[in-house]
Amino acid sequence: MSDCLFCKIAAGDIPSKKVYEDEVCYAFYDIDPQAPTHFLVIPKAHIPSCGAVTGENSAAVAHIFEVIAKVTQELGLTDFRVVSNCGPQAGQSVPHLHFHVLSGRDMTWPPG
Ligand code: 5GP
Ligand code: ZN
Repeated sequence: MSDCLFCKIAAGDIPSKKVYEDEVCYAFYDIDPQAPTHFLVIPKAHIPSCGAVTGENSAAVAHIFEVIAKVTQELGLTDFRVVSNCGPQAGQSVPHLHFHVLSGRDMTWPPG
């Protein structure tokens, strides 16, 4: 999608600090980290949010979770949180599906 911030980041049109990339997804450090380690994993294809996952695009989501396991292992992260906000009331500010991976500090529950 041409006017989507994360489509532009995935395409390299807007610079970001890459964590991992393959043909399906892109992972990069969050510009406003909320933990000592905080990166985002996004599908390269535009999916608006978790609420738009279907049988047609869910393979990318499964792949992203494989990537999260692989990258966290490579970074030596044993304890981490994966978050996807869906909709503005839940805190979604960028309407392109993304999974936050947060690690390196104590986490509270329930989230705010
Ligand atoms: P959301 O609020 O939608 O759950 O998460 C969006 C995340 O994207 C936020 O944590 C925000 O800091 C991050 N973000 C927004 N714009 C940029 C950007 O241009 N570059 C990077 N690396 N992260 C961004
Ligand atoms: Zn997009």
